[in-house]
Amino acid sequence: MNWYHQAGVTPCLTCDGHGSEWNRLWLRPGDPDCWAVDCPECEAQGHHACAVCGFDQQVAGYDCAVCDHVNSFTAEDLKAIDAAAFAQSFLQAMEVARAAESYVPGLAA
Ligand SMILES: [Zn+2]
Ligand SMILES: [Zn+2]
Repeated sequence: MNWYHQAGVTPCLTCDGHGSEWNRLWLRPGDPDCWAVDCPECEAQGHHACAVCGFDQQVAGYDCAVCDHVNSFTAEDLKAIDAAAFAQSFLQAMEVARAAESYVPGLAA
């Protein structure tokens, strides 16, 4: 059983990823009785959280940014890695990377 098969933050098919749909499908946008309502399927998110890990942010290039990374580990890694420590360091690395992003190239020492 391949756990990764179930992983992925998937676009909502009901609202086509918009997070909303027209209250009356037979009316056109612009008609007075037609307005957008939150999509009940995805709770206006436009996508569904990953079934495996619950991550709910779409990241370009990843089915699920979290599961894709976990899937890149070997079976040995999976046994050895302390997930809590990994998560802690992940936070730290994100902070450092974000701070680095804010430097104007050329001005940094
Ligand atoms: Zn939806
Ligand atoms: Zn996931």
